Amino acid sequence: MTQSLGALITADELVAAGHDEVILATGVEPRTPVIDGIDHPKVVGYQQVITGEVQVGERVAVIGAGGIGFDVSEFLTHDAAHPSLALDLPAWQKEWGVTDPEEADGGLTRGEHPVSPRQVYLLQRKTTKVGGGLGKTSGWVHRAALQHRAVEMIAGASYTRIDDDGLHFSVDGEEGTRVIDVDHVVICAGQEPRRDLHDALVAAGVTTHLVGGADVAAELDAKRAIQQASELAATL
Ligand SMILES: Cc1cc2nc3c(=O)[nH]c(=O)nc-3n(C[C@H](O)[C@H](O)[C@H](O)COP(=O)(O)OP(=O)(O)OC[C@H]3O[C@@H](n4cnc5c(N)ncnc54)[C@H](O)[C@@H]3O)c2cc1C
Repeated sequence: MTQSLGALITADELVAAGHDEVILATGVEPRTPVIDGIDHPKVVGYQQVITGEVQVGERVAVIGAGGIGFDVSEFLTHDAAHPSLALDLPAWQKEWGVTDPEEADGGLTRGEHPVSPRQVYLLQRKTTKVGGGLGKTSGWVHRAALQHRAVEMIAGASYTRIDDDGLHFSVDGEEGTRVIDVDHVVICAGQEPRRDLHDALVAAGVTTHLVGGADVAAELDAKRAIQQASELAATL
């Protein structure tokens, strides 16, 4: 059976096709945290931000400081001329202080950090270091990149509400409540497996397998999804 790209397949279509087995690699859906005011117009999902569906304002709170929260914060603090994306080596060297070893010891000098087009606040509920769970070899780069752009990282946040005044929250160990006046609150608060096809297929007696985020959404990375899919394919 062929299926065109850019279309969602339904369980009925899969059942009608009469496959021996179906592998669901349907990924994840973002988790929506329970916060008073979560349906306020200034609340947006990370997918709306990354796809450009929403034009984000100049003051932004990002809720959730996992890999996606970091990526979204980087996206929001760079303008279109991101040195890595534009493969602009001189701009990248200037930011990170990389120079000719003949000009400075070890080829390193003081970096010059561009001004972010937005003020971004990156918050997490955990009281541990923000970004502490990122990859060992690349986590420091992500943390440094956001520090270069004056992102305020806040650990131990308990969210009270979101309203016209912004995001209200308290911080572990602090008295009282803080309010940050933001144009948008971007939700990067984890994900759930996307399994909308699963139950109907199983109910119809179709042998169905789950791989990647559709199987387990927590701590998901591409390596695990690819490995799981490859190992399953080898058994069929
Ligand atoms: C901003 C961001 C940054 C990330 N950075 C990294 C990184 O640096 N390194 C890393 O390893 N991982 C990263 N990830 C995670 C990585 O994207 C996932 O681990 C990986 O994509 C999981 O693969 P998957 O096959 O489970 O799901 P996906 O890659 O999400 O694929 C699921 C696909 O199924 C499609 N689909 C769902 N339902 C249907 C249907 N009914 N009909 C047809 N199609 C359907 C979806 O449209 C989607 O295209 C990042 C994720 C995000 C959001």
